[in-house]
Amino acid sequence: MKEKKKSSVAILLDYAGSHKGLTFLGLALSAVSMLLSMVPYLCIWLVARDLIAVAPDWTQAQGITRYGWLAFAFAVGGILLYFAGLMCTHLAAFRTASNIRKRGVAHMMQAPLGFFDTNASGLIRGRLDAAAAETETLLAHNLADIVGTITLFVSMLVMMFLFDWRMGAACLLAAVISVAAMFSMMGGKNAKLMAEYQAAQDRMTKAGTEYVRGIPVVKIFQQTVYSFKAFQQAIEAYSSKSEYYQDKVCRVPQSLNLTFTEGAFVFLVPVALFLAPSALAGGDFAGFVTNFAFYAVFSAILSTALARIMFASAGMMLASTALGRIDQVMCAPTLKKPPRPQKPQDSRVEFADVSFTYDGAASPALSHLSFTVEPGQTVALVGPSGGGKTTAASLIPRFWDATSGVVKVGGVDVTQIDPHVLMDQIAFVFQNSRLFKTSILENVRAARPEATRAQVEAALMAAQCGDILEKLPQGMDTQIGSEGTYLSGGEQQRVALARAILKDAPIVVLDEATAFADPENEALIQKALSELTRGRTVIMIAHRLSTVVGADQILVLDKGRIVEQGSHSVLSTAGGLYARMWADYNQAVQWKITSE
Ligand code: ADP
Ligand code: MG
Repeated sequence: MKEKKKSSVAILLDYAGSHKGLTFLGLALSAVSMLLSMVPYLCIWLVARDLIAVAPDWTQAQGITRYGWLAFAFAVGGILLYFAGLMCTHLAAFRTASNIRKRGVAHMMQAPLGFFDTNASGLIRGRLDAAAAETETLLAHNLADIVGTITLFVSMLVMMFLFDWRMGAACLLAAVISVAAMFSMMGGKNAKLMAEYQAAQDRMTKAGTEYVRGIPVVKIFQQTVYSFKAFQQAIEAYSSKSEYYQDKVCRVPQSLNLTFTEGAFVFLVPVALFLAPSALAGGDFAGFVTNFAFYAVFSAILSTALARIMFASAGMMLASTALGRIDQVMCAPTLKKPPRPQKPQDSRVEFADVSFTYDGAASPALSHLSFTVEPGQTVALVGPSGGGKTTAASLIPRFWDATSGVVKVGGVDVTQIDPHVLMDQIAFVFQNSRLFKTSILENVRAARPEATRAQVEAALMAAQCGDILEKLPQGMDTQIGSEGTYLSGGEQQRVALARAILKDAPIVVLDEATAFADPENEALIQKALSELTRGRTVIMIAHRLSTVVGADQILVLDKGRIVEQGSHSVLSTAGGLYARMWADYNQAVQWKITSE
């Protein structure tokens, strides 16, 4: 996966898409609401000023009720705007989180198959969920909190300076201390700890996915199984990392910082009292008392406000890392439609000096492969396990792209064909095809959504699935995988062949399609296969050499290279690798016959 550094803000704005305006509106509303809700506090100052002005003739103080109305009006206005702001940010948050999920799914649709390889799928899902969830919290609450509180804070600071520059300076100092404390928490070392902590979380997710995937094996071998141990270790590593993280980042420093931020402003009260003599020296008793009332209230508001910012910043940090991590995933290469897509001319498949190395692998899986499958021909890939057969087949539908050299379909470089058009050309049958948990009808129709029932049925019959349909309670409409409707591996493979037949693609790729067949299924699968391959261009990977005897051409792959090439009759007597494999195969068959 390629890493491309983009700031979290840029990523966030990108995902917010057309909901940016709504987000900004929400933030602006919450800022204005904060300004409005300061007025009631200012009323305290106004009341104190008026009272002192009329003292001791309190009968003149009736007028202060009008401040009650003023405070009431602004309090209501502030609350209404705050509500409206939250409505906007919540909606924007929800839509942005949906954008992240939708784009993640769209990206997965376009990503090459290799993207999902090596148990990364659990990780991708985990990251997608985290990014969506953290972003939603960030946009719905944290950002509004931060923007609102900063507005409140700055306007109060300005007022402090207007009342008394020394109090303003003291307030600024307190703010600097608390902000410094806050930033020390998000600084380099903690960010690194956080990254480690999340890496441990990633490993746990991966190990968990692998563990769940291999559960049948785990059940048999219990604790000795690798995936179980790996999962256990990953959980332990995660717990210790998370404890360490809690210790280093949360418990002591966060408590300290919180104490600082909350505590700093309480000192405004003693500072105001220390300044009292000089303030009173001018004889402005009224001014001092009114200001003092104001300081007392503001110091209380400011300390809780900063604590809010601090929590919101923690959320910001989480969202920022989550966004960075999902961006790594989203930056992974996708199969894009080429700018000027070309149409394949026929069903010829051609490899021209193709080499391929898996990401991070030391040696190439394929080296300088060149061969051509003419339209209507059958080419078989055989050879020892790990020789590169599956890899070679995977390059045709672009599950992976060649590292060098060109794979052509119908005379056109596959990377120059619209991926959808390319997929339409190819039916691919895997060793163990998976059926979806839906009806047989829908499973087969997946190949061609517009196919009629009759066409699906014809494909099922061609794939020798008559016996399966007969034994299932609702025939084609039976849901697969529910009780009593499990199909054996061989039966599932025949349904998968029906799917390939229905697709009616000119090119058929078979990767050990018969490998898992049990004896009674084998003959049926062979028949289904001959229905599927008739008249088509076929690339067949086979374990059982009996199935490749009739191929027009056999390619023997070993360590990623073609070591032999020719027809069965030539190769079986050439004294090379194929001849040995053929001899071994016959011996095994002989042994099987005699031992039965
Ligand atoms: P075959 O199908 O002939 O058994 P493969 O094409 O599956 O061989 O494998 C060829 C080589 O590539 C082997 O060395 C194998 O370990 C390696 N390989 C296969 N799949 C992957 C993968 N997803 N990531 C990394 N290496 C792989
Ligand atoms: Mg293989």
